[in-house]
Amino acid sequence: LFITFEGVEGAGKTTVIQHISEQFMNEGYEVIATREPGGIEIAEKIREVILNKEHTAMDSRTEALLYAAARRQHLVERVIPALNQGKIVLCDRFIDSSLAYQGYARGLGIDEVYQVNEFAIENCMPDLTILFELDPKVGLERISDNDSREKNRLDLEKLDFHEKVEMAYNILKEQFPNRIKSIDAEQSLDRVQSECESVVRSFLK
Ligand code: C5P
Ligand code: MG
Repeated sequence: LFITFEGVEGAGKTTVIQHISEQFMNEGYEVIATREPGGIEIAEKIREVILNKEHTAMDSRTEALLYAAARRQHLVERVIPALNQGKIVLCDRFIDSSLAYQGYARGLGIDEVYQVNEFAIENCMPDLTILFELDPKVGLERISDNDSREKNRLDLEKLDFHEKVEMAYNILKEQFPNRIKSIDAEQSLDRVQSECESVVRSFLK
């Protein structure tokens, strides 16, 4: 069972994945929790290249291709072998992040970015995607560590971008209603965790 977690930053994906992976392991399921971009050495290296703030010259198509390359390697090296062993794979971000961030928010086009990713993943789409729905403003507030003027200015620029990301996730949710299940990530962490758990449980039956 291949389950991916999506949503704007600060939604709590990473924390909840850790929690539910422990929960299901305690019940005897074999689970791996992993993330994108990264999860294995080659992809973590690509992640460093993409997220390096000094790489200001990076073109958005280059960025989209690097995400797709990291995704391919991680899928082939880590996800597919685990799925073949019957494990539950919980992955922090996958193709929908590229569709939302590069396709929509960066303006490359959802369909265009989908094509690049189709080449990268072939037919290996997630069985289930849990979308953490959260006002991006709340998400950014959760992750911001100081409130200096400069930080506020940067956050405002970022807010516009992250609002586009949120819009994109809404489009994707309508496009793939069977695969994408959304949960309200503005609730307490406990509620978010238990809702995620029951969505996953309904897929295990
Ligand atoms: O999920 P995580 O917080 O580790 O993501 C790292 C960064 O990469 C975030 O700032 C996110 O906005 C960005 N990202 C992106 N495009 C993707 C995936 C992640 O811009 N396809
Ligand atoms: Mg995270």
